[in-house]
Amino acid sequence: MDARVTSVSFTMHGIGVSSGIAIGHAHLFIGMSTEVDQYEVAQGEILREQRRYDRAVKEVRDELKELADSVRHSAASELAPFVKVHLMLLEDSAFTDAPREIIRERHVNAEWALRQQLDELSAQFADIEDPYLREREEDVRQVAERVLEALAGTKRRITAKPPRGEDPPILVARELSPADVILFREHPFGAFITDLGGATSHTAIMARSLNMPAIVAMHHGRGMIREDELIIVDGTQGVVIVNPDKHVLAEYRLKQNEARIEREKLKRLKSAPAATLDGTTVQLFANIELPADVEPVRASGATGVGLFRSEFLFMNRRDQPDEEEQFEAYRSVVEGMKGMPVTIRTLDIGNDKPIDGQESTAVNPALGLRAIRYCLAEPHVFNTQLRAILRASKFGKVLILIPMLSTWAEITQALLAVAAAKEQLRSENIKFDDYVPVGAMIEVPAAAIALPMFIRKLDFLSIGTNDLIQYTLAIDRADDAVAHLYDPLHPAILSLIAGVIRTAQQHEKPVAVCGEMAGDVELTRLLLGFGLRNFSMHPAHVLTVKQRVLSTSLPDIAAIVARILKTDEPERLQALMEKLNS
Ligand code: PEP
Ligand code: MG
Repeated sequence: MDARVTSVSFTMHGIGVSSGIAIGHAHLFIGMSTEVDQYEVAQGEILREQRRYDRAVKEVRDELKELADSVRHSAASELAPFVKVHLMLLEDSAFTDAPREIIRERHVNAEWALRQQLDELSAQFADIEDPYLREREEDVRQVAERVLEALAGTKRRITAKPPRGEDPPILVARELSPADVILFREHPFGAFITDLGGATSHTAIMARSLNMPAIVAMHHGRGMIREDELIIVDGTQGVVIVNPDKHVLAEYRLKQNEARIEREKLKRLKSAPAATLDGTTVQLFANIELPADVEPVRASGATGVGLFRSEFLFMNRRDQPDEEEQFEAYRSVVEGMKGMPVTIRTLDIGNDKPIDGQESTAVNPALGLRAIRYCLAEPHVFNTQLRAILRASKFGKVLILIPMLSTWAEITQALLAVAAAKEQLRSENIKFDDYVPVGAMIEVPAAAIALPMFIRKLDFLSIGTNDLIQYTLAIDRADDAVAHLYDPLHPAILSLIAGVIRTAQQHEKPVAVCGEMAGDVELTRLLLGFGLRNFSMHPAHVLTVKQRVLSTSLPDIAAIVARILKTDEPERLQALMEKLNS
């Protein structure tokens, strides 16, 4: 029983991972479960129970058809075949007839009958050798779950919900995967809050790139907030106010308006060149996940793409994109950027971004076969991607960025793979830019420490601060239990970043920062003081960072930055940071 009195106002705290204020009604994202109750159905009720089952199947069929239509021409079109498989399964007699028979023969409720049928199907799958067919078991399970949820009258997955009044609904979930967040593009949500997750998890990064306020690590949000309750999400402060009274609501509406006006003002900076007060030019590039992101990049005034997380092309689908499909995706970005540089990072799969159907069984996937390690272990996948990227290089200015490099052998093998892909294209008379620069993400501490070998062998460097912090401080970036320990200002991190930038500059090797630190306006001056001249961030932050660059004088900040680098006392560091940003 719910002990809470209706409409009691209360406040909850989490980690704000995407700033801004959203006000709207809660929409609960219910996780999937196949745990069901069993009860007996009397002889006279059998027909009615069978009809109840039929209605649930029909409801799911309609839902899937609608989903198939809505994804077909959208950014998530790769979902279409996946939905089709589910529709086909639902038409099979294993779903349409068998559970009805079980209801009739065993006099049980529809949920239990379907559960029994699912167990029988699972037992049959266990005997199948073919890995592709065995994988279909997951599809069968998901279809069964949809029917169970239709029977229970609950919602599953992320479904659209019409806004009440002007405000789009707020998604409240226990946990969301990066793939779930991609689906947000299909549904207008005002914000999301999750019980789990860390600040630099890819889920959080996606929220920022969608310019959507978000809070993670709420711990009890899913249990405390009820469907349709009015909530305020303050992504900047990490605060959620449930059932606000009218004064609080008015206050937040005002703040929301002020932020809107501020955003409009910032837009005027779009075409202003990014330079410091003393005239030093700074490059502000953008990070993207999918080709559709080019539009916000252009709107932000960013002058290039510093990180295209290509692995998002591989998500929310059962198969992998072939060379042609990848080529088209890369080409559309390159053409969309109209001659501005586009840095395509090769597949950074693994960790919190598994390829569907290849769920990692590693004990610690962050330290496992991810990124370049995966690509070198799957040369065919790597080769396909490199060929597609090289082919796209003919249409603009492309750079190739390799993630997670840490050893000499990996660098050598990655470069050989690029050379081999070039050789293949040459022998097939396919045109590409022969001078495509190849760079390394500096995101494993080993790379930052042994930098000269990267400087010698690669054309440019890009510091991935998200992983560099994760690995240096031994903090899983997606784990809410240690999220509070994730500290970009830890002296070890500052010393590594400053060292990488300094060494790269001494060797005249271009160096960028493309982790979340690059888009944090509170760190802009610090990074400028370290010597950074190339930032890559989510498009939503480009103008705010530009404003800070425009108001910074490099000679004025040099002494404070030098003191920050010598400090290891948090309070002193905090005071110096405040001084730097004042
Ligand atoms: C990083 O690690 O800082 C980075 C930019 O890459 P990702 O967040 O995709 O791991
Ligand atoms: Mg990384």
